[in-house]
Amino acid sequence: MSLSTCVTRIALTGSASGIGAALRRRLEKEGSEVIGIDIRGADVIADLSKGSGRRSAIREVLGRCGGKLDGFVACAGVGPAVGSSPLIVSLNYFGAVELLDAFKDALVAGAPSSVVVVASNSATALPSLPEDVVDAILSNDEGSARWAAEDIDPTIAYAASKLALARAMRRRASEWVKDGVRLNAVAPGAVETPLLAQTLADPELGPQVRAFPIPVGRFGTPEEIADAIAFLLGPASAFCCGSVLFVDGGTDALVRPDRF
Ligand code: NAD
Repeated sequence: MSLSTCVTRIALTGSASGIGAALRRRLEKEGSEVIGIDIRGADVIADLSKGSGRRSAIREVLGRCGGKLDGFVACAGVGPAVGSSPLIVSLNYFGAVELLDAFKDALVAGAPSSVVVVASNSATALPSLPEDVVDAILSNDEGSARWAAEDIDPTIAYAASKLALARAMRRRASEWVKDGVRLNAVAPGAVETPLLAQTLADPELGPQVRAFPIPVGRFGTPEEIADAIAFLLGPASAFCCGSVLFVDGGTDALVRPDRF
C-alpha cells in the first residue's frame, strides 16, 4: 500500500537509527518526503532533551514544511541504560509532546493528517508504576517532572515516560480529530535496535530483558514496527483514533490477558 496519496510530508524524530531509520526508509520508498529530526545524522539536528533544542527544531521544521505537515511521528527516545531518569523523562516525553503541540497548526493545515507516538509495552507490562510520577510528567512542568523522577529507577522512569506519552496522545485524540488530525500510538516490545543492544549489554538490565517473556519467541525487527507505524499514519487506519497498537510478540497479552 502506498501512503503517497494521503501522507506526503512527514516530520519524524529519531530518524537516524533503529525504528525511526527503518520508517524513514519505508516512507521515502513510498514517495513521502521525510523531515528527519535527530541529535545526529538528520535534516534537522537538535537535542530534543533540552528546551532550546526543541525550540530550534520546531522553528526549523516549520520553516522547511512551510507551515503544513501531513504527518508527525515522535520516535526519538532513550532507554533505561542511559542511567538518568530525568534525561529519560525530558527526551521521551517532553521531546515528543512539545513538538506535537507546536506542530498542531501545521497538522491542521495538512488535514487529514496523522500522528503516531512511539510508546512501549513497558508502560503496561511493569507492575505498579508510580502514578504520582506519571501525573508529574503529564503536568507539563518539565522541572517538576524531572524532580519527581530524580530518585526513581531508570527502568521505572522509562515506563512512566511512555505511559505519560500514550496518555498525552489519548487526551488530545478526540479533540484534534475534529480538526482532521488523527493521533495514535504504537507500543513496541523488545526490538533489535541499538537501544536494545545497549540495554542487553548492561549487566543488570540485560538479564532482566532476556528473562521477559515474548510468546512469539524472538525480538521484533525495526521494520516490523515501521510497518505498524506506517499503517497508523496511512488511510487504511482512518477509523483508528487514540488507539495504542501493541506490537510486542504477545507480551502484553501474556502479562495482562484480562485487562481489556
Ligand atoms: P535507537 O537508539 O536506534 O534510536 C533512537 C533515536 O533517538 C536515535 O536516532 C538517536 O540518535 C535519537 N536520540 C537519542 N537522543 C536524542 C536526543 N537527545 N535528541 C534527539 N534525538 C535523540 O532506538 P530505537 O529502539 O529505534 O528507539 C526508537 C523508539 O522506540 C524510542 O522512543 C524507544 O523508546 C522506543 N522503543 C524501543 C524499543 C526497543 O526494544 N528497541 C521498545 C519499545 C519502545
